[in-house]
Amino acid sequence: GHRAAAPATEIASVCPYCGVGCQVGFRVRDGAIEEVVGRDGPSNQGRLCVKGRFGFDYLAHPDRLTRPLVRISPKDPADCLDPRLARTKFREADWEEALALAAGGLARIRDRSGPNALAGFGSAKGSNEEAYLFQKLVRTGFGTNNIDHCTRLCHAASVAALLEGIGSGAVTAPFMAAAEAEVIVVIGARPTENHPVAATFLKEAAARGAALVTLDPRGSALDRHAQEVVRFAPGRDVPMLNAMLHTVIEEGLYDRQYVAAHTEDFAALREHVAALTPEAMAPLCGVPAEQLRRVARLFARARTAMILWGMGISQSTHGTDNTRCLIALALLCGQVGRPGTGLHPLRGQNNVQGASDAGLIPMMFPDYRHTDDDAARAHLEDLWGARLDPTPGLTVVEIMQAMERGEIAGMYIMGENPAMSDPDVAHARAALTKLEHLVVQDLFLTETAALADVVLPASAWPEKDGTVTNTNRQVQMGRAALPLPEGVRQDLDIIVEMANRLGLPWDYAHPREVFPEMAAATPSLANITWDRLEREGSVTYPCHSPDRPGEAIVFGDRFPTASGRARFVTAGLRDPDEMPDERYPLVLTTGRQLEHWHTGSMTRRAGMLDALEPEPTASLAPAELARRGLAPGQRLRLETRRGAIELAARADPALPEGLVFVPFAYREAAANLLTNPQLDPFGKIPEFKYCAVRVEAVPTR
Ligand code: SF4
Repeated sequence: GHRAAAPATEIASVCPYCGVGCQVGFRVRDGAIEEVVGRDGPSNQGRLCVKGRFGFDYLAHPDRLTRPLVRISPKDPADCLDPRLARTKFREADWEEALALAAGGLARIRDRSGPNALAGFGSAKGSNEEAYLFQKLVRTGFGTNNIDHCTRLCHAASVAALLEGIGSGAVTAPFMAAAEAEVIVVIGARPTENHPVAATFLKEAAARGAALVTLDPRGSALDRHAQEVVRFAPGRDVPMLNAMLHTVIEEGLYDRQYVAAHTEDFAALREHVAALTPEAMAPLCGVPAEQLRRVARLFARARTAMILWGMGISQSTHGTDNTRCLIALALLCGQVGRPGTGLHPLRGQNNVQGASDAGLIPMMFPDYRHTDDDAARAHLEDLWGARLDPTPGLTVVEIMQAMERGEIAGMYIMGENPAMSDPDVAHARAALTKLEHLVVQDLFLTETAALADVVLPASAWPEKDGTVTNTNRQVQMGRAALPLPEGVRQDLDIIVEMANRLGLPWDYAHPREVFPEMAAATPSLANITWDRLEREGSVTYPCHSPDRPGEAIVFGDRFPTASGRARFVTAGLRDPDEMPDERYPLVLTTGRQLEHWHTGSMTRRAGMLDALEPEPTASLAPAELARRGLAPGQRLRLETRRGAIELAARADPALPEGLVFVPFAYREAAANLLTNPQLDPFGKIPEFKYCAVRVEAVPTR
C-alpha cells in the first residue's frame, strides 16, 4: 500500500514570470515545491498558465550556482556559447573573499576614474525592495545615475509617450476592465502567449459580447475571438493609426466635450491627419481603406473602449510615435478614466512596473521624478543622507556603447542578461569582455555571468520575501516558500554587503525594513504598508486611504500634468530603419513563446517547459517556405548585416509572406545576433521588431 504522505504546506506568493502577477500557492513538501496552484488573486482569480504552473524546477537544476565564483583565466566572448567551458575559467570562493573582490574592484574604479566610469543594471525579476536598494546603491555608493534595467528594451517607448501625453507612465486601467468594455483593441501584443491569464479575461469579454479587435502583422490565437482582425504590414503602425484618427475626426465621431474639457493641441492633430485618409494610407499599411474606417467607427462609437498593447508597438524606431497615436485615439473618443475604458501597455516581467517605480531608470529617481528636479533631489538627499548627481545617467544600450569606448570600466549586474538581450549581442559581448571589472549576481552562469570577474549566486523568487508590482499597478506580497540552498544568500543581503563595502553604513535585515523608506521616497505608494500587504495580499496604487483597495481606474477628472489636461502629440510617417533589399529580402521580427521566458535562463532549465519547446526555430509562412524550396524541419541559416544563426524551419500559417519570426530565448541561436540596434529617438528602445534578413538552407554534408 501507499505510505501516508505528510500534508503539503501551501505558501501564498506571486508567480515569478510575467507582469500579469498571478497569485500562486507554492505547495511544499520535504523542502521542495511539489505543485503550484492558482490562488484567488485580483488579476488571476485562480487561473495560471503553463509557466506559472509547471515552470518551477529550475530552482533545483544542477546548473544552479551555490558558491561565489572568481575568475582565474582570461575572458573570451566565445564563453557565452559554452557554459561548461566558461565554468572552467572560474574558481569557487567563500563569500567574504568574493564580496571583497566584487566591491573592491568597483571602489577602485570609482576612486580612480570617477563615478561615471561605473554603471549598474538592476532586475525586473526581483522585489521592489531589492530594486529600490540597488538603485540607491548605484546613486549613493557609486555616485552615478548610470542605472537602468530591461524596461529600456520593452516599454521605454510606451512610457515616454505616456509621460508626455498624460503625465503618467503606468496603465490607466487594469486589464480586468475589459469586462465592462464594449470594444477592446489589442495591438502589437500576443497575450495568449505572453500574458496568458490576461488573455482569458479578454476572451471572456468577447464571449460576453464585447467587440474584440486584434491588429498585428502576425495572426494569433486571440484572432478566433475577434470581431475584426486587422493584419497590417510590419512596421506600418503609424500610417494605419493616423488613418483611423483621420476618420474619427473627419466623420465628426470624436467626443467634442471630452476633447474640449480634458485635452490640448487638438488643432495640431486635426491639421496633421487631414491629408492622411484611409485611401492614402491603405497602400502603405496594407489594410483596405474600408476596414480602416470600419475599425475607427467601431472604436469611436463605443460607449466604453480600451486599448491594450505590447512590444509590437514599442520595440521600434517609431515606438514612441506608435504609442502617441494610440493615446490620441483614446483621448479623441474620451476613452480614459471611466469603467470599461483605458490605456494598458501590457508589462512584461513580473516586476518591471515595480522596478521602474523604484527608480531603476537613469533619468529618474523613484516615482519618476527627474534627476534634475531640484525639489525631488533635495528630498532624497535628505532621506538618503547623500549628495545626488542631477545629470541623467546612460540607458542600457548607451551603457554598452560607453563600455565599448572604454568610458565605463566597471559594472554590477543583478538578474539581467545583456549578453543575450542587448539588441546587438556580438558588440555587447565584446564590450562586456573589455570591462575591467564585472560583477554578476544570478541564479546560473548566464551568458553575461560567463564574462564576469566575480559571480555572486542569487536567491530565487520562491526563496524570498518581498513585494512586486504587476501590470495593473497592484502591489502584491511574495513570500519565501523554500529555504535557501546551502551556500546561497538572499539577494537583499548581497546588495547590503556590497553597499557596506562601498562605504555605505546600511543594515537592512529584511525587506520589511526597506519598505517604509521606499514608500517615503515614492509618494505613489501612500497608504500602502508592509503590514497591510501581509494582510490583504494586493493593494493598487494610487491609494487614497488605508481602508480603500486603491484606484484601479485613474484620470477621471484630471491628468497629472501641469495643466491637468492630456496632450495630443502627432506622429509623422517614417520607414523602419532598415528596409529589405536584394541581399536581405525578408523582414525579421523577434519575440517570445508561451513556454519560454525572455533569455531562457529559467524556463530552459524547467523540465516540462523545455520539453514542450526544446529547440530554436524560425517560423515562415508555408507559401514563403515553398517559394524558397524549403521545408519545415529543415536547417536554415538566417543572416543580417550584423550576424548569422542556424536553426530549424517551422511553417506557421499565421505569418504573412515576407516575414520571419525568431524567438529570443535560445542561447545556441541568439536572435539578437541579427537584430537592428537602431534606437527610437525618444524612448531609446531598439528596433527588435523589424530588420532585413536573408534566409537560406544550410547545405547538408
Ligand atoms: Fe505567471 Fe504570467 Fe502565467 Fe500568470 S500569466 S501564471 S503571472 S506567467
